Amino acid sequence: MNKPLYSIRMRARRQGQHLSGAERLSSLEEVEQLAADMVQRALHHARGRAESIELTIEQISAAEVERRPLPDLHTWLVGDYRQGRLAAAEILRRAGVAQGVIDGALSQIAGGAAPGAQTMRGAMLVDADSGQRLEPDQARGVRVSRMDLTEQARQQLDSELNRLGLNNTHVREALVLAAKVLSAPEIVAELCWSDDPDYTAGYVASVAQGYVRFPHLKPLGEERGGRAFFVRTEGSSLEGLIDYLQNRPILFDRIGRLHSARHWETYP
Ligand code: AMP
Repeated sequence: MNKPLYSIRMRARRQGQHLSGAERLSSLEEVEQLAADMVQRALHHARGRAESIELTIEQISAAEVERRPLPDLHTWLVGDYRQGRLAAAEILRRAGVAQGVIDGALSQIAGGAAPGAQTMRGAMLVDADSGQRLEPDQARGVRVSRMDLTEQARQQLDSELNRLGLNNTHVREALVLAAKVLSAPEIVAELCWSDDPDYTAGYVASVAQGYVRFPHLKPLGEERGGRAFFVRTEGSSLEGLIDYLQNRPILFDRIGRLHSARHWETYP
C-alpha cells in the first residue's frame, strides 16, 4: 500500500513532428514492461515509425496519490462524423459551453489547432464563455499525466468493456485521461478525437453527463485530431490548474456504470 509508484511518460517524434505519447502510473515490478510496451507502440504507430523516443520515469511517494472513481460511460450511435459533431456540440451545450465557443473548438481541432495547422501535442485550454485560448504554448498545449487505474479497477473495466465490445487501448486510456481532467474543479467539459487515422471515434466528457462516446467524430484516414478542455478559471489560478493536470498523481480505484450503445435519434 505504501510502496512508491513510478510515473512513466513517453513522447515520440517523426519528421520533426509529435507522433505519439503515453502516460501511466506503475508499481516497481511493472515499470520495465510498461516502458518496453511504450517503446514498441512508438515504433509501430499507424502514422509511421518513431524517429526519436523520450521516456521519463519518476518515482512518486504513495502518500501523494489521490484515489477517485471513473465517470460513467455512454455511447451514442451516429451515422457519420457530421452527425457526430452535431451530437457532441449538443452535449457540450448542455454542459454549459457557449455555442460560438463550441463551433470554434470543433473547427480548430478539425483544422489543426497548433501553429501551421498542425495537430497539438497536448490539449488546448479554452475559456468556456469567451473562447479565448489559455494554454501558454499553442503547439505543446497541456499534457495530462500521472493517472492510471488500480489493478482491481483495471480488471473490472476490462470485463465491462469486453461485454460492450469496447476493450481497446484508445477507450481505456481516454477514459482514464478524461477522469483526471474532470476531477479539476475549473473544468466545464472536454472534447476529443484521435489523431490516429484508423480511429474515428471521439468523446465529450463532463461531470454531469460522464464520458459520452461517438463512433464517428472524424472521417476515416484523417490524421488531425486533438483535445479541448473548456474551463472557467475566475477566482482560481490558471498555473494551478495546469500544474494539477500535469503533475497531480491520481489512481482510479472504482469504475462507473458502462451503458450499452443507443441511437442518437433516441437522445432525450
Ligand atoms: P490520442 O487520443 O492519443 O490520439 O490523442 C488525440 C489528441 O489528444 C492528440 O493529438 C493530442 O493533441 C491530445 N492528447 C493526447 N494525449 C494527451 C494528454 N496526455 N494530455 C492532453 N492532451 C493529449
